[in-house]
Amino acid sequence: MVKIILVVAEHRDGALRQVTYEAIQAATLSSAENDQLHVAVIGHQLESLTEPLSSIDAEKVYLIDHPDLQQYNPEAYAAALKQVIDASNPDGIILGHTAIGRDLAPMISAKIDAGQISDVTNIENIDDQVVFTRPIYAGKAFEKKIFRSSPWVVTIRPNNISIAEPSDGKAEVENIDYAKPASLRTVIQNVVRNTSGKVDLSEAKIVVSGGRGVKSADGFKPLQELADVLGGAVGASRGACDADYCDYSLQIGQTGKVVTPEVYIACGISGAIQHVAGMSQSKIIVAINKDSEAPIFKIADYGIVGDLFEVVPLLTEEFKKV
Ligand code: FAD
Repeated sequence: MVKIILVVAEHRDGALRQVTYEAIQAATLSSAENDQLHVAVIGHQLESLTEPLSSIDAEKVYLIDHPDLQQYNPEAYAAALKQVIDASNPDGIILGHTAIGRDLAPMISAKIDAGQISDVTNIENIDDQVVFTRPIYAGKAFEKKIFRSSPWVVTIRPNNISIAEPSDGKAEVENIDYAKPASLRTVIQNVVRNTSGKVDLSEAKIVVSGGRGVKSADGFKPLQELADVLGGAVGASRGACDADYCDYSLQIGQTGKVVTPEVYIACGISGAIQHVAGMSQSKIIVAINKDSEAPIFKIADYGIVGDLFEVVPLLTEEFKKV
């Protein structure tokens, strides 16, 4: 029987976010040969997405375009997605494990009475069953789960599943008229976007992170310089955020963002379990700490025992030469 997997696309500033391409790849990994990929795109003024959507190898793209959907609004987006689900009739739904996906997925699971597996980091086909892997106990262990019924809902952790290759695209685009739900909270504040970071932290390939060892807001400057040279983003421990050295939007860890970059450079971070929960899946971990006994060295692939204010500028100078 042909299955349909529906990917909920995320977009920002007129472009599809990287996690959308990862979700499409996740759909491929969850599918058999003749299964179908459908894509849901919810928002307003979606014309700029026509080109990126045309390079997706989907059977169908459902667009819901309405001024009420300009900004993320839980009830409005859940209602719009339910309309797409009614039209698409999917066996599985995949979203990014992002701020929006984490909010939307359980609402939609409840609406359609679906089982949900969150924060998936790997998808395999074992004995003809699709097996989803997710971290548990703050990343200390992994569990493998399967669905015994459909429809199902999955959120995938950004930066874990490789992105789908662009294709010629053959998707039929269907516009759905948005039916405003009866009960709708109104967003009266504008979204305030932190534009200090040049690269999106949750999608960055390289993260240079600072902890309490950075000692002040100014102490983050050498980290930002290193991140700029490497084309990466700056992150932080909660220790640094609590000390007011940086904004909480940079916090990585159990109660902050979860990142899985190619390279994570921890500067002046002790390696508390709550911090490690947000970065332990990074491909390569580099720790710079003046205390050789700091726990961060236990999980680091490369460790530099030294003063970050000496080591970080040296690294920046060296990488500038590359
Ligand atoms: P510290 O533990 O103080 O470490 C500073 C490090 O800097 C030390 O190892 C020191 O040797 C080193 N250092 C100092 N000066 C230098 C220098 N010049 N050069 C090099 N190294 C230097 N934390 C998070 O990060 N994220 C979370 O999401 C999070 N959630 C939490 C949730 C709960 C419920 C609780 C209870 C705690 C949470 N925490 C979280 C806090 C966590 O337990 C730690 O307190 C915090 O991670 C410590 O931050 P830190 O490593 O920057 O500071």
